[in-house]
Amino acid sequence: MFMTLNHFEAGLWSVIGLIFAVAGIRTMGTTSSRCYLLAVLFVAFGISDLVESETGGWWQPWWLLVWKAACLTVFAWQLWEYGASKRHEEWAYYATGMKFYLIGGTLHAAIITLFVKVGAWYWLFRLAWALSPWSSFPFPYGSGDLVFYSYGHDDALATQIERFISSVVSISIPIAVVHSLTFLLVAWGYKLFGSPNYWLDIRTKLKFRKAWSDSARRSWWVWPAVLIIENIWTYLASGFMYTMYPIVNMSYPFQIAIFVIIPFSYISTHATVLRKHIIAVVGTEEVRCISCGYLLRGLLSKRCPECGHNTLSDSVVDFRFRWEWSRNWSSCWKKLRIAMLLGLAFSPLWVSFILVRCPQQWMQFVPSVIQPGKPVFVPNQDIFPIRLDAVCIIQCDESLAVLVLNKMGPSSAKYAVGYWEEASDYGTQTPDTIQSGSVMYSGGPILPIGPWKFKYGIAWEHMLWLTRPTTTCSVTATSKDDYDGDLTWVPNDEESDDLP
Ligand SMILES: [Zn+2]
Repeated sequence: MFMTLNHFEAGLWSVIGLIFAVAGIRTMGTTSSRCYLLAVLFVAFGISDLVESETGGWWQPWWLLVWKAACLTVFAWQLWEYGASKRHEEWAYYATGMKFYLIGGTLHAAIITLFVKVGAWYWLFRLAWALSPWSSFPFPYGSGDLVFYSYGHDDALATQIERFISSVVSISIPIAVVHSLTFLLVAWGYKLFGSPNYWLDIRTKLKFRKAWSDSARRSWWVWPAVLIIENIWTYLASGFMYTMYPIVNMSYPFQIAIFVIIPFSYISTHATVLRKHIIAVVGTEEVRCISCGYLLRGLLSKRCPECGHNTLSDSVVDFRFRWEWSRNWSSCWKKLRIAMLLGLAFSPLWVSFILVRCPQQWMQFVPSVIQPGKPVFVPNQDIFPIRLDAVCIIQCDESLAVLVLNKMGPSSAKYAVGYWEEASDYGTQTPDTIQSGSVMYSGGPILPIGPWKFKYGIAWEHMLWLTRPTTTCSVTATSKDDYDGDLTWVPNDEESDDLP
């Protein structure tokens, strides 16, 4: 994982270096030499990442740290030079835009850290458990038990800081790309479909970079906000999957939705900001009729001589996409937009709901990408999730058994079963028979409990999925701490480990 990330970074910096090298060939003079310098720097920085993947840390050996620091210092110096060479104002716009991209990237990286470091996933797993049919059974996981979800939690501080910084960088880049590309898309849209068509009149006066940086300032929260929703749903969905009750579905519709919501929100901010900027630079001599685009220069009448359209006042300048002038369209669009956003945000719920209720014959016509690969509800009502250190009370007809599990590891436990022929003897007498043994990931499938043969599919990830032989058997479970019965009959050899 760490190695792959380093190789990816090395590749990324080298590609940027290559772009600068090409730019160096295509330009002249100082710009050209600056491009060459940056090309060399980026490639050197990329190589340092390759070295890092071998040594395992950016701070060791010391010369790697010096190497990286030197590269960054020259970068900073070049950036400063470039800023000074540009007009101050424009440089400030760039700085503002970049700053808000970095803020977005930092927030997203902080969200990831929060979920891993603070164990936010753990509370979402607990929530899923509480909402599942097993809420009365003891929750099986400790906050550090599912290694996959707390990956890197215990790493050295330097490694964690490094991971944080590299995620800030690797997230800020896609934010910058998506935000800038959608900005260009909106500008292009206004140029082609703007009404009245002011583009030709104002394109030289328009502060394009300022509009871009304003838009970055107004939409910095979009990416982290969407990602925090995505993270909450993802962990909740994983939690439900671990209860074998996946009523929240994170299949493709939602994943696609995430990648629609972000550009969609950006586009709507760009459209608002760019529109304001365009309106601001339209001179009084350039005002056009909203309806037909006729140049109203010098006309004092409120009526357009060309089409008869009534403007509200002489100074009204307005500019929109052509289709936005239709009143029906705009009210419709507002409602549609709210409905779409709500629908997408809650799609993990309704998608699985629909997929479950769809007749299975219909499913063959659904493209395979949006079919959830897994069964949605517990296929067998006789299966119960038992924590590997729980006490389980089983009652079949008039008889009763107590299964005591003693966890040996995440996928193995020793067990002792006490069996009372008459349930009324339970609590007053020692068990009629006592059995013991162990359950393992690879073991099973039969767990003898009294005269009954229970099946267990897997003992895995701190849980045992126990299958009752008939529906007349009731199964409940509590943790050892909550169990108030007598356990002195449990054989005392639990510590003598005879597991393979
Ligand atoms: Zn007109």
